Amino acid sequence: MILFAVESSRLHDCSLNNSGVAVIFVKIKKIDPIILHAQDTGSHESELNVGGYAGFQVVVHVETDEGFDGWGECCTGGEYGESALAVKTLIERGFVPRIKDEDPRDYRKIWEKLYTDTSWFGRRGLTTFAQSGIDTALVDIAAKSYGVPASRLLGGRYRSEIPLYASLLFDMDDVWGTAEKGARYIREDYFGAKFGWGMIPSKPFGANPEADEKMIAAIRETFGPQGNIMVDVGRYVNWSSDHAIRMAKRFEKYGIFWLEEALPQDDLRGYERLTNSTDVTIAFGEGLYTIYDFAEVITRHAADLLQPDASKVGGISEMKRVIELARINNVRWVPHNWSTAINSAASMQLVASAPDGFLMEFKQESNPLVSELSKEKFRIEKGKLIVPDLPGLGIEIDQNVVDKYRWQP
Ligand SMILES: [Mg+2]
Repeated sequence: MILFAVESSRLHDCSLNNSGVAVIFVKIKKIDPIILHAQDTGSHESELNVGGYAGFQVVVHVETDEGFDGWGECCTGGEYGESALAVKTLIERGFVPRIKDEDPRDYRKIWEKLYTDTSWFGRRGLTTFAQSGIDTALVDIAAKSYGVPASRLLGGRYRSEIPLYASLLFDMDDVWGTAEKGARYIREDYFGAKFGWGMIPSKPFGANPEADEKMIAAIRETFGPQGNIMVDVGRYVNWSSDHAIRMAKRFEKYGIFWLEEALPQDDLRGYERLTNSTDVTIAFGEGLYTIYDFAEVITRHAADLLQPDASKVGGISEMKRVIELARINNVRWVPHNWSTAINSAASMQLVASAPDGFLMEFKQESNPLVSELSKEKFRIEKGKLIVPDLPGLGIEIDQNVVDKYRWQP
């Protein structure tokens, strides 16, 4: 319903539609979950899981009766597109009938409804991916409807530029090449560079303590004393907590900024032990869902630094709850961000909106879903992301790029 005349005392809780007309009610009209597929261009496709982690993503486009629209992301991955298909089905069959005609500005109320309604089979995993895409799209719409960046809707804008760390993969066949790949970003004034997993799954980091230490030593030598190094063990290897404690000790002398995902994601007891056995900062959290998982990690002191992912944890509003919980417990956090431009924009708004936001991950292995999806390209100056003063997430999705990478099973 469009309201042509609004009492001035009520203007503060009104939105203006595209024609500049004040509106009291906005309704969700259309929800379109779209599967995109694009491979990292630098990946060794012969051996990398085809369409692996960064391959299949679901982006959600939500349109309203007042002309506002929003975009969200479900960072599904999945080797054969199966998770993306399941998320698309969940949204189309289960979410659309539940939330069509709702007001997108009730995004938290909608989040709680979807969480409760799907609790029999949901609460984690693919259902939370699906909720993430919807939630971020609704927050995007809500912020656009008020004409403010999402960071302001989330409570305030604390900063207009965000230090970045470059996110890269180890090439265990090329120690000095890997180090040099990261050094480029240190020279460009990035906060640091993270190396993870391995370009080739059968030759991962983490498989040989001597080779691992040689790699970290080479990176430190190349960076010099100042550049921050983050080490992401990842899931190609399976360390025990004993082994992780020994490796943390080996890496201590290279002054690494954090050690990430050193243990399997379900080994909370191991994380607890590791975190309390080393001075190295233990980072963890890209595989955790909703505030409930993070509350457990914080309560048990199973990490020093948390890495929630807005496209997985339950969306931008759920991530805001997670980072608030981290802040009141004096635990640091840095968004996990390795999928599309939508998640980069969501992470940017969250870091901008938080008093203790200090750093953001920015994927540097090239993938068109990061570099091409937004018409407005991310502005990076001296290693810092410039937060645009635009409404919503602050990006404009290029429909041609969506069509180019749209995947039909
Ligand atoms: Mg990681």
